Amino acid sequence: MRLSQMLVPTTRETPAEAELVSHQLMLRAGLIRRLGSGLYTWMPMGLRVLQKITAIVREEMNRAGAQEVLMPSVHPAELWQASGRWEQMGSLMLRLKDRHKRDFCYGPTHEEVVTYHVKQDVRSWKQLPLNLYQIQTKFRDEIRPRFGLMRAREFIMKDAYSFHMDSADLAREYAGMRVAYQRIFDRLGVDYRIVQADTGDIGGTASEEFHVVAGAGEDLLAVSDGSDFAANIEAAACGTTLTRPEASQEAQDVATPGRSTCAAVAELLAIPLEQALKLVVVEGSDGNLVALALRGDHELNEIKAERHPAVAAPLQLAEGARIQSVFGCEPGFLGVRNCPVPVIADHAAAVLADFVCGANRHDFHTTGVNWGRDCPEPAVADLRNIAEGDPSPDGQGRIRFLRGIEVGHIFQLGDKYARAMELTVLDADGASVTPQMGCYGIGVSRIAAAVVEQCHDEQGIRWPQAIAPFALVICPIGMDRSEAVREAAERLYADAQAAGVEVLLDDRGLRPGVMFADSELLGIPHRVVIGDKALADDQYEYRHRSDSEAKRISSDHAALLDRIRAG
Ligand code: ATP
Ligand code: MG
Repeated sequence: MRLSQMLVPTTRETPAEAELVSHQLMLRAGLIRRLGSGLYTWMPMGLRVLQKITAIVREEMNRAGAQEVLMPSVHPAELWQASGRWEQMGSLMLRLKDRHKRDFCYGPTHEEVVTYHVKQDVRSWKQLPLNLYQIQTKFRDEIRPRFGLMRAREFIMKDAYSFHMDSADLAREYAGMRVAYQRIFDRLGVDYRIVQADTGDIGGTASEEFHVVAGAGEDLLAVSDGSDFAANIEAAACGTTLTRPEASQEAQDVATPGRSTCAAVAELLAIPLEQALKLVVVEGSDGNLVALALRGDHELNEIKAERHPAVAAPLQLAEGARIQSVFGCEPGFLGVRNCPVPVIADHAAAVLADFVCGANRHDFHTTGVNWGRDCPEPAVADLRNIAEGDPSPDGQGRIRFLRGIEVGHIFQLGDKYARAMELTVLDADGASVTPQMGCYGIGVSRIAAAVVEQCHDEQGIRWPQAIAPFALVICPIGMDRSEAVREAAERLYADAQAAGVEVLLDDRGLRPGVMFADSELLGIPHRVVIGDKALADDQYEYRHRSDSEAKRISSDHAALLDRIRAG
């Protein structure tokens, strides 16, 4: 392409609306433009990147034996009512009515739709297994759309759904998809991790996420320094290998005026934070309150908490006024002695002895508290986030945290949707069987942003060559003045095209500084500068986007283009 003919609205200024570097750079490089909250247009240069990502995803899905389909983005409400998710999706789902006042939604995902089609057309075990995928636009009315394409409302997903006669066959397909995903992310050229993921309400079957490692990632990943254990902290199980020491102190109330946090109390009493117990009071599943007890240095994991049968889902913190009326005291001074509500303690909190907690009395805490003696033994559960330095759940090494951007998710769903939508097929003996399902998502548009987040420097984007909008940019200096420069540039441009190298010719006639700045901002891997001086020695100036300096190279096109094709 000739740059003079492309709409590439680059800017020098950092857009105020963009917090993340990837968002700033994608706007500055003119790859995307905002239309509304969480809505973006792919401009010509950006679309080239998106199409490269899409092509890699499609090739690897096809290689793995999945079949491409394309389902509508607008879905009749009945399908979602049948699965129970019309209600459950809440305001994440954009709903609309047609001219007959019938309800529809804009699809946030496609389990219902694909299951509907399989139910229509698949009757026999002979038609399974089946893996159907699409690369398609989703709409989710996210509470906080932000970071550009990273958390958009309209975005592009590759979603695949597989159907199997039994769970062993589902496990086989899941393993195959995992390999396909590894091939995809290897080819994209990014640093990524596969982590154990939360399985949501669906149950204990396998689920893993693929994360691009980046400091700005929204997800915390717990990885072991002594094994390949890696989990999203949402999902990382934590027990304890410790046992509770003997009680050695008497329980005693002490004045702690104005000290309503564990940290403040620990400081006042000069005790380690882990000897303080905090209570988080939440709504219980029976309509009464429940107190969750955690060590002062630990954090509540909301997903684990709301999965406890005694706790209401979604998790709801008790309101201050309700706590005041039930405990006779405000939050900040709550404790387990004479606690008016049932207590569930995290494993690590349940092995404390002689701990400090609120006295259920304004401005007082109790020291030397012991479970079983000063209060009933609590129910015990895994309620907390794993912490850095904790032993790895697989027993090897210690946990450290990484930040990641979720770009893929693979999931063994079991028969949840097939059952809800009454999908059955006949097995070899003519008996009716509910198929097992898997689903496999990739955030295609999010990948573009995640790659920029990982691959950039002060000057701009550094696309891995596999998804760069162009492999080579030619910057002729003084093209309008020098016939020799023009002729060489045109010849390299033509040779590159003939050699199948995707090439951009900067024929805008701008100053070298502007051309260089744009080529660096756009992140094109190879740059050739053609100027009169070097040309007199039959040379060009060459710089790879990751080189610190340009160097002179011979103007032998064949050798140059071979090198560029090789990556
Ligand atoms: P998240 O936890 O980031 O909200 P999710 O777990 O709800 O994502 P899935 O339902 O697993 O998302 O969707 C599959 C993939 O689609 C995700 O792994 C992610 O890469 C991408 N994705 C999800 N939501 C968005 C969004 N709002 N904008 C861009 N990509 C998204
Ligand atoms: Mg997910």
